[in-house]
Amino acid sequence: MSSILLCSCRSGHRTPATESFPGPDAAPVEESVEGIVPEFRPGFLCDTIPPAVEARMRGNSYPEGAKIGLDELRYLRVAYYDFDGIRHMGELVCNVAIAQDLLEIFRALYEAEYPICSIRLVDDFGGSDDESMLADNSSCFNYRVVAGTTRLSNHARGLAIDINPFENPYITQSGKVLPEGAEPYVDRSKDFPHKIDKEDLCYRLFIEHGFTWGGSWQTVKDYQHFEKVF
Ligand SMILES: [Zn+2]
Repeated sequence: MSSILLCSCRSGHRTPATESFPGPDAAPVEESVEGIVPEFRPGFLCDTIPPAVEARMRGNSYPEGAKIGLDELRYLRVAYYDFDGIRHMGELVCNVAIAQDLLEIFRALYEAEYPICSIRLVDDFGGSDDESMLADNSSCFNYRVVAGTTRLSNHARGLAIDINPFENPYITQSGKVLPEGAEPYVDRSKDFPHKIDKEDLCYRLFIEHGFTWGGSWQTVKDYQHFEKVF
């Protein structure tokens, strides 16, 4: 179905290959010579939150009064293949407690060439989970409540991550589908690209690392969501 295939460009990052390479603060790449595309060097890096990333987070994923210290969070760079098989360096912010898990999981996904639409900080979407999901963006830390409630999400502790959210929507108890437009992906008996189910590599890796999957929940279904709670 064409409506399914259209999703590969939701993130808006289908740019020429030269633009998919890391920026100046990313993993080291060959010195760029005019007209020569630098070699892509996949990296899986973990750091404390750099000042430039903190500046992006403040007022977005990290609002005033957030009850988590930046020292409890880590900034990850992970290589990944997008839906077109183009390699990128993605960015994630997560809790220090799951940083090693995520590095290992994303390395395994990269080695398997597992397609992920986009891995950008939710700050690039003004901290809006709705906008991030609409762009089919995979993300982790966001100091926010569970959609439709006043309860803090495990994303607010950086202990939850959403993968390919458009094809793996969140279905609330009242049956609302998030993100908007993801209704074609609600019927999980159908076969379509980028569906997370129990046969999926992504599912298996997260479970092996002690995460639980929102697709196994009874009251709501959150097929994009994995979390590890301590
Ligand atoms: Zn989630």
